Amino acid sequence: MELYDRFNRRIDYLRISVTDRCNLRCSYCMPEAGVEAKAHRDILSYEEIERFALAAVAAGISKIRLTGGEPLVRKDAVALVKMLAAIPGLRDMSLTTNGLLLPEFGDDLKAAGLKRVNISIDSLDSDVYRRLTRGGDLNKALAGLKKALELGFEPVKVNAVLMRGVNDDPKEFVELIHEYPVHVRFIEYMPVGAWDPKLYVSIDEFKANLARYGAGDPVEGPPGAGPATYFAFAGALGTIGFISPISNHFCGSCNRLRLTPDGKVRPCLFSDDEFDIRPKVRDNVSKDETIEFIREILAAKPERHAAHEKEHLKRLMYQIGG
Ligand code: SAM
Ligand code: SF4
Repeated sequence: MELYDRFNRRIDYLRISVTDRCNLRCSYCMPEAGVEAKAHRDILSYEEIERFALAAVAAGISKIRLTGGEPLVRKDAVALVKMLAAIPGLRDMSLTTNGLLLPEFGDDLKAAGLKRVNISIDSLDSDVYRRLTRGGDLNKALAGLKKALELGFEPVKVNAVLMRGVNDDPKEFVELIHEYPVHVRFIEYMPVGAWDPKLYVSIDEFKANLARYGAGDPVEGPPGAGPATYFAFAGALGTIGFISPISNHFCGSCNRLRLTPDGKVRPCLFSDDEFDIRPKVRDNVSKDETIEFIREILAAKPERHAAHEKEHLKRLMYQIGG
């Protein structure tokens, strides 16, 4: 079955945020004091997530990504990966993580059916990384990256939120892709929470910085490239790319839905419209009924976002699952 919204976009990708808790406190994402732990009853159980995913895959979703907060801080995240990876018809099961817990859980995640990982590392300077994550240890994130490569996840991508004075000079990332076969994607800093416009860097400015290090023309990205544009560098093992949700929105080819830890589907990251799926994932509700509900949700997916008009969403990224 294939799933289309009313603008004839094929929707085949579901991002599931499994927790709003995290072992880091990135300044653009989380409050400094962290978040109060939610009661168990307020977050979807793994069985509820599985029931929703079964209906979503039957309706036409073929790719699922787990995110958060930090997905690996939720107890038994490996068990959830195993449950979801086993869904017939699911082609791709991936994870977005800060990487800190990959040395501990990487082997089990691979065995559970995880296909690939995106690891968020905004700076390769340990002082900048510590400041930005409010206390994080870059060496631990790099150990996670190396573990992902050792385990043969393919491709391994690194996400970095592009910020002035933090990483707009991509020198160390260019060195990284010469040393390791990783695909770095700089993501435009999105207006969520305490957004500081001074940190925003445009794609043109960033491309000029890349050119200084010998970036060639745009090339085809690794599998699952999504909306990113990638650039090749002579002699490098990996690539550097750019995702521009703000300056060059890709709403016309948006293929995704998001599920929050507390059971709300957001048809668009930048719209506060949400649909509570909890009544639809109880065990007395049929899969067909849940599929029907997914179709109703899709009818509310907007044609394009208005992130340029609106700086503050009600929820921050750690609550939505970036
Ligand atoms: N903890 C995991 C991680 O950091 O990869 C998964 C959750 S995190 C919310 C997912 C992604 O959202 C990360 O790559 C993070 O950098 C990105 N993100 C958070 N806030 C953002 C913002 N305001 N603009 C752009 N990306 C943001
Ligand atoms: Fe945690 Fe990821 Fe948000 Fe950083 S970006 S605070 S690692 S959820």
